[in-house]
Amino acid sequence: MTSAAENPTKLLLHACCGPCSMEPVRLLRERGVEPHVYYANSNIHPPAEYARRLETIRGWAASVGLSLTEGRYDVAAWEATAGRIGDAARARFGVIAGDVADAAGGGAAEAAAGTAAAGATAAASAEPAGATRGGAAGDGTPTHSAQAESARQARCRACYRLRFEEAARFAAENGFDALGTTLSVSPYQYTDVIREELGRAARAAGVRPLFEDYRPCYAEATRRSREAGLYRQNFCGCRFSEEEAAVERAARKRFRAEAREREAAAHA
Ligand code: SF4
Repeated sequence: MTSAAENPTKLLLHACCGPCSMEPVRLLRERGVEPHVYYANSNIHPPAEYARRLETIRGWAASVGLSLTEGRYDVAAWEATAGRIGDAARARFGVIAGDVADAAGGGAAEAAAGTAAAGATAAASAEPAGATRGGAAGDGTPTHSAQAESARQARCRACYRLRFEEAARFAAENGFDALGTTLSVSPYQYTDVIREELGRAARAAGVRPLFEDYRPCYAEATRRSREAGLYRQNFCGCRFSEEEAAVERAARKRFRAEAREREAAAHA
């Protein structure tokens, strides 16, 4: 975490959703930084989901006296970048879902996929982006492939880049001296890629990147967002992640049913 001496004077905090914003905002305020939240998420599909996440974060921000600006919702720009990369990967690898072992582990992966991804993932933005992933076989069983994982990471990098570039532009135009993001709350995102892309976008706009790894806050973010009754989505946001999360949930369910059957047979 950043020390008080390094605190920015005026911080723009890119936010993926309400649940993921709770802990970063609490921590920033604790050390005297009042962020302005910027909701720039052209990745979210469909528009009704985008509106629901926006409504959630707006309501929460208002309840804690936090200022918020909605960025552009530019689906065409997202499709021309991350969407194009995602389509190529989808055509080559099928649904790039987490592997069964990861999915069966339940725990965090389940929390993530089951709740919000930016919202519902535990508060977090969720959806297992950082888990081991591969294409799904014909019966929906995920199979590991480093190439598929790499293709998915390229898609997510483009997605981060688009959102951070827009946020950095807004920050520069409106006198902010630093740019941060809540995307690093989720342990299922590509944290290192987030750090790289935030730094690249901020520096290009002449703003200081304030990357902070909020993954240790994930469990608390989940708990607090549930307690507050915030909407917590069960996929990261894009059309690909919605499909991937559904495959992962089905695999998890199947694995558990098989485990129960084995357990029952062992005790028969
Ligand atoms: S999984 Fe999440 S980060 Fe990756 S492309 Fe989709 S919305 Fe963006």
